[in-house]
Amino acid sequence: MEPLYEGKAKRLWATDDPNVLRMEFKNDATAFNGEKKAQFEDKGRLNNEISTLVYGMLEREGVPTHFVRRVDETHVDVRKVDIVMVEVIVRNVAAGSFCRRTGVEEGREFGQPIVEFSIKSDELGDPLVNDDYIRELGLATADELTQLRESALKVNGILIGLFRDCGLRLVDFKLEFGRPVDDPGSIVLADEISPDGCRLWDLETGEKMDKDRFRRDLGNVMEAYREVLGRLKAELG
Ligand code: UDP
Repeated sequence: MEPLYEGKAKRLWATDDPNVLRMEFKNDATAFNGEKKAQFEDKGRLNNEISTLVYGMLEREGVPTHFVRRVDETHVDVRKVDIVMVEVIVRNVAAGSFCRRTGVEEGREFGQPIVEFSIKSDELGDPLVNDDYIRELGLATADELTQLRESALKVNGILIGLFRDCGLRLVDFKLEFGRPVDDPGSIVLADEISPDGCRLWDLETGEKMDKDRFRRDLGNVMEAYREVLGRLKAELG
């Protein structure tokens, strides 16, 4: 069988239900728009477990998501969605491209979270855009944009608390959303939530516990992911 879709870190497979897809977490890691590549033993399982725990918490808090059920170590069933081609990034602390763009030093805590949008396009390198660009390009309606922003801020509030209880500072993260094929007027959270798409710093030591360990060759990449999962499991059982 061929996957319906293969991305950098995941594959999507059809199921018997036309409204449900099976998402497989791969062991591949990429950074800098796919320029840097590696494979990490156990990464797929770790991200699937982390993402499943986080999605469970978000669902309990009333955030609509694509999550249906975890299937096994590296697979999860999700509602089939038409992905909104906008990445939503929420920042609580200055890091990464925010620092490169503004010259602000890494680690400055913001008074309020920053929400930003970029076009989901490897070809264009995910350019930063504003609401007017998104509307003009037809990537989302004004109403959908309001929903994306509100949902992203709600998720941020929930995740800040969850990770704080795990001794982790939620610096920033990326979200994706989709329109379920069986209810295209609605918007649900899609994709994964894992250390691949979040910056998490240890509250005590400041140590980076996320994909920056890979981006910056800091070593012990999977050790950090394993530690994040261990803390989430201890917190959420
Ligand atoms: N991020 C992501 N995928 C992307 C771009 C960003 O998962 O295509 C995540 C990244 O891991 C970080 C946050 O979004 O947690 C903000 O990333 P930033 O814009 O600072 O980009 P970077 O420094 O990674 O280039």
